[in-house]
Amino acid sequence: MAQKLAAGNWKMNGTEASLAEIDAMIAAYPDPGCGVLICPPATLLDRLSKRVGSGPIATGAQDCHANASGAHTGDISAEMIKDAGGAYVILGHSERRTDHGETNEQVNAKAVAATGAGLVAVVCVGETLEQRDAGETLDLVGAQLAGSIPDGISGETLVVAYEPVWAIGTGRIPTIEQITEVHDFMRAKLTERFGAEVGGAVSLLYGGSVKPSNAAEIFAVENVDGALVGGASLKAADFGAIIDALQ
Ligand code: PGA
Repeated sequence: MAQKLAAGNWKMNGTEASLAEIDAMIAAYPDPGCGVLICPPATLLDRLSKRVGSGPIATGAQDCHANASGAHTGDISAEMIKDAGGAYVILGHSERRTDHGETNEQVNAKAVAATGAGLVAVVCVGETLEQRDAGETLDLVGAQLAGSIPDGISGETLVVAYEPVWAIGTGRIPTIEQITEVHDFMRAKLTERFGAEVGGAVSLLYGGSVKPSNAAEIFAVENVDGALVGGASLKAADFGAIIDALQ
């Protein structure tokens, strides 16, 4: 059984003042009935990790370099994320693929580094509107899964997030039928490649304009094990309502 996971992606948002939202969440969810993850900007990871301590809220980063250390100005490594208290790292988010030209091969190398350092890799896939309109969604998602996920993963080291690019930050979400189709497809592809045990144990998150108002219907989809939430993860009240819908 895949773990249920509510994951927050703060993107390039958050300063010291934002940590008050975390205090509210820690108080509201002393024992959540699902996994809860917050991925703040790298500048806050250490502070946030200390704030949540050994409690049920996990922390992670939004990217890592494929190398452990070295001359890579501006980058951080999986080891550094671990050192700062992170347990997860988001990889291959569409904003990284678009803004930084990240390829499946690079995401794959980062996932190898992340899992090697003891982090859980949250690998993101998803089509653009043009690709959906052209009927290419499953081919594209299949190619991203095949290319971005390394061999040797398990349900403990990999989470996959399906995030249609056109649904991110737009307030638009796919129909429940479209989400069902892609998530069933991803489960089948992972099972085909890694076997039923691993394929069934990888948490499959949906991401893209998840809000308190639509979370319950998305979580009712059989192969949706949680959400990767951007905008609505910044406020404890909104993210809390999404956690409530998942529990
Ligand atoms: P959004 O972002 O919830 O603001 O649409 C989701 C994401 O990009 O992970």
